[in-house]
Amino acid sequence: MGEEQESVRQRIDELREQIRRYDHHYYVLDDPLVPDAEYDRQLAELVALEARYPELITADSPTQRVAGAPASGFVEVEHVVPMRSLGNAFSEAEVADFDRRARERLGVASITYVAEPKLDGLAISLLYEDGVLVRAATRGDGERGEAVTHNVRTLRTVPLRLAGTPPARLEVRGEVVMGHAGFEALNARLRAQGGKTFANPRNAAAGSLRQLDPAVAAQRPLEFFGYGVGLVEGGVLPPSQSETLAWLSELGLRVNPLWRQVEGVDGCLAYQHEIGERRDALPYEIDGVVYKVDRRDWQETLGYVARAPRWAIAHKFPAREELTRLLDVEFQVGRTGALTPVARLEPVAVSGVTVSNATLHNMDEVRRKDVRIGDSVVVRRAGDVIPEVVGVVIERRPADAREITLPDHCPVCGSSVEQVEGEAVARCSGGLYCPAQRKEAIRHFASRRALDIEGLGERLIDQLVARGWVHDVADLYRLDAVALGALERMGERSAQNLVAALEASKQTTLARFLFALGIREVGEATARALANHFGSLDALIEASGDLERLQQVDDVGPVVAAHLHAFFAEPHNRDVIARLRTAGVVWLEGPPAPRETLPLTGQTWVLTGTLESMSRDQAKARLEALGAKVAGSVSKKTTCVVAGRDAGSKLDKAQTLGVEVIDEAELITRMQALE
Ligand code: NAD
Repeated sequence: MGEEQESVRQRIDELREQIRRYDHHYYVLDDPLVPDAEYDRQLAELVALEARYPELITADSPTQRVAGAPASGFVEVEHVVPMRSLGNAFSEAEVADFDRRARERLGVASITYVAEPKLDGLAISLLYEDGVLVRAATRGDGERGEAVTHNVRTLRTVPLRLAGTPPARLEVRGEVVMGHAGFEALNARLRAQGGKTFANPRNAAAGSLRQLDPAVAAQRPLEFFGYGVGLVEGGVLPPSQSETLAWLSELGLRVNPLWRQVEGVDGCLAYQHEIGERRDALPYEIDGVVYKVDRRDWQETLGYVARAPRWAIAHKFPAREELTRLLDVEFQVGRTGALTPVARLEPVAVSGVTVSNATLHNMDEVRRKDVRIGDSVVVRRAGDVIPEVVGVVIERRPADAREITLPDHCPVCGSSVEQVEGEAVARCSGGLYCPAQRKEAIRHFASRRALDIEGLGERLIDQLVARGWVHDVADLYRLDAVALGALERMGERSAQNLVAALEASKQTTLARFLFALGIREVGEATARALANHFGSLDALIEASGDLERLQQVDDVGPVVAAHLHAFFAEPHNRDVIARLRTAGVVWLEGPPAPRETLPLTGQTWVLTGTLESMSRDQAKARLEALGAKVAGSVSKKTTCVVAGRDAGSKLDKAQTLGVEVIDEAELITRMQALE
């Protein structure tokens, strides 16, 4: 054997061993060691080497079989029809290749495909006998999976009995996923209990479904979507994938509504673009789309390669997680003085954008994740959210990795840094003396949902504070066009526009004004509730000495009441308010706003089940601030029912009465549109 081949063999062995280890952590422990992008790179290298040296392929190579062995503790289930994986395409050219090969094999000019979102969860097999769910199993290694029937029974989206006339035995296949909101809530809960969190929704779904205790699994927000069929006995399968999906829906199974029949490569790619645009807005994670040859007879002609069908392919979206190096950590100071550790990273492309900074949230997170300077870290960037460091590849830690320490003094103003017992956040004690806090306070005041001062951007605020022209928000109204025009990057025209925007911002509402003041814990909804309750600023200031009176306001608990009290008791803050009023900032005052004028006035809403992203009290307060009445029971007069997780009899009643039912995501969308 040549030297070259010997070194290739070594590399192949190395890759196989590495990939098996990654598989074990990912599929069995639900706790991946590296991000998918890194795993995919190693697998691709192995595939390429095996393609060049086919004589080195072995039957047990990870390229030849579906990974993931059944874990001990579960009863093993044999899949009569193997559960395979999917081939991957990462580019449009690879999709075109796939289509060309399929057309050549079939000897046809064009293929109709069914395109579906590729849900990022875990594959599950549901066996129905005479329409009754008798067994649910994971994919495992494709031949043998784990029986998870008890856990799957707790999913509301899995019918225990099928509708219509199902065949005597029917094995439905689909994906179990955990939505974003549920994932965040679960991790928050685990964190609060001091437990280990999940790296991503997929691992959370897999870890939850593979719980040995069904009571634990029942509390996890899992959902099922059906996308195919395995074993069928005593019945006939529809002749195409599109008809199969329609049939599954008729049997009462939940099928993802985003599937569509498309023509040829062009149809596939147009679908991929469209779903790609919607990816961030979906309430669950998808990692690509899947194209399946629609006609079943064609599927049969095409058949299977080792681990995947030849009639389907997954077209992956760019990965949301990547691996890079943590070069350094700096601390940023926010409006309330909170110090946020920010990771300076070796630049890396994550889902199409170069990322060189990411948040580490707070020191508790840094310690929990055991992040050190010099580490290989996993960065995640999803949608508009600020990129974050989600984990570390410990085994790649260099010997000289340095621990991250909280500074004793504010990096901006030098005041001491305080960490309150029991709070994760450390704060600069400099208050408005600290330019960083001042700048953030001004930025918040000018933001769109506060006084909405167009043109007052970050750079400009930096200059205004640095020159000592603006010490607090009231100073903004003393700026004149001549002085402004002399600033960097500020022409006469933009100076005039800014002065006009400042002038226009003076006409506001009490709710916006209260929000703009940046009182701790007083967000938009609370500001609105306060404005509605007191009607005027003076009434609020007068009441602010009395914590009990403050707590009569919806949405105001002891913590918010204490912050309000402290804020209005501070003479400096009262002075700023007085100067703002003198400068001409006004709003309509009077008795509390009549309820008829609010967008949801006259409507009665009912909340049921567990909400993931807010408490029911918070949802109630926001709805009430919009004028709705929030009732405890459903009747014909109910306008809308919001069904959270595990919604029970109220949901059933709403459905019987034909009352509109929406989920949490829809509630948030509607409230945001009205607020
Ligand atoms: P896969 O998850 O990429 O694709 C196959 C799966 O897609 C099916 O089993 C099915 O569950 C799912 N699927 C979702 N929607 C579907 C639909 N509409 N129709 C059909 N199937 C649908 O394949 P895989 O072999 O399970 O896993 C490979 C993936 O796991 C890769 O993304 C890889 O990066 C990742 N992985 C990562 C690590 C790691 O260490 N980070 C380790 C192993 C695997």
